Amino acid sequence: MKIALMGPPACGKGTQARRLREKYGLPHISSGDILRDEVARGTDFGIQVKQYMDRGEIGPATLITEMVLAHLHSHCPGGFILDGFPRTVFQAWELMKEHDLDAVYLVDVSEDEVLRRITGRRTCQGCGNIYSIHRDAPASGLCASCGGKLVQRDDDNEETARNRLAVYTRETAPVAGFYRDRGLLKSIPGARSPEEIFADITAQLG
Ligand code: AMP
Repeated sequence: MKIALMGPPACGKGTQARRLREKYGLPHISSGDILRDEVARGTDFGIQVKQYMDRGEIGPATLITEMVLAHLHSHCPGGFILDGFPRTVFQAWELMKEHDLDAVYLVDVSEDEVLRRITGRRTCQGCGNIYSIHRDAPASGLCASCGGKLVQRDDDNEETARNRLAVYTRETAPVAGFYRDRGLLKSIPGARSPEEIFADITAQLG
């Protein structure tokens, strides 16, 4: 099974991808996580890409595409759940040269809701679990699964969030049209609980 999750920042695709990984035992490939790992390790590429991430801009397209495709090649022989990739029509074309996707889920939420969620999002430094201060972030500031510290991502502030939304509308929203034209796009209303969204996706996946 090869599927992709797309949608505006903080629409919940990361949370859904993690749940799908647990249910189907497929690798969850998040281009954002791959890039954050490069940044954390202080690689040359990480240093270069951090500037884009801090501004909420799309990073260097060709390099990121090569990196994600290499990852799929070496780690995902039995399928994958993509999260945050493809983010441009160029990336969608490049992905299609190597993989036939079974479905693409577009998790749809309004701009106001995106801003509320981004500024309230907290991420576990240890295992990457995602929480919301509006819903489920433990008051202790520590992850309920691994005890790791919950932090706000550098790019989860309002200014960067507004830019990420503008970039999404300009660069990523057309990717939905790309997959709609190929009969692969499934739109999922995202202004619901993670449990309801998950039930919807898994019912469609079968
Ligand atoms: P995300 O974790 O998906 O919200 O991504 C965080 C940031 O990483 C984005 O704002 C971009 O700067 C960069 N990024 C993630 N995925 C991609 C991609 N597929 N292509 C280009 N830049 C990306």
